[in-house]
Amino acid sequence: MKQLYSKDYISAQVSRIGKEISRDYRDSEILLVVILKGAMLFAADLAREITCPVTIDFMRVSSYGANTSSSGEILLKTDIEANICGKHVIIIEDIIDTGLTLQALTNHLQQRSPASLKVCTLINKKKRRVSAINVDYSGIIMDDGFIVGYGLDYNEHYRNLDAIYQFDPNKQLP
Ligand code: 5GP
Repeated sequence: MKQLYSKDYISAQVSRIGKEISRDYRDSEILLVVILKGAMLFAADLAREITCPVTIDFMRVSSYGANTSSSGEILLKTDIEANICGKHVIIIEDIIDTGLTLQALTNHLQQRSPASLKVCTLINKKKRRVSAINVDYSGIIMDDGFIVGYGLDYNEHYRNLDAIYQFDPNKQLP
């Protein structure tokens, strides 16, 4: 597979976002809502770059499975345990593509009256946006193409790779 973003490049972006978040919130406590499974490696590294007090919770929504394009249908598989009312919440996503997943997640969390709700993503596919959502922190902006590695999968494979690779399901197995 062709490597698109190296381990060192990803690490530099994660560090930059960590600094931005630490600067914006200073001593306020923030709750990171990590969207499983794709954002798990990103969130683990990012949390260690943030200097303000942090708590962490998880949500799981349906993913593409063995497909490489969004259905627009979001199924909430696991909800957060924390009460977010009055808290400063940041959603931690792996990729924002059409924005449909994030739109649904934002609506869902906004109903629970957080003090603030921001969005952070490792990969921002800006040009493919369908839904008008605001992204507060983004690591890497890319145009198009399907990628795997650093938490991102194809059919549950490749999440453990420490760099990000271009993936063509017609050429590669599994
Ligand atoms: P959206 O609803 O923004 O179109 O889709 C976002 C979700 O689709 C991401 O959280 C991610 O799970 C999945 N996704 C979008 N693009 C890619 C990609 O290039 N590779 C992988 N592995 N997943 C992707």
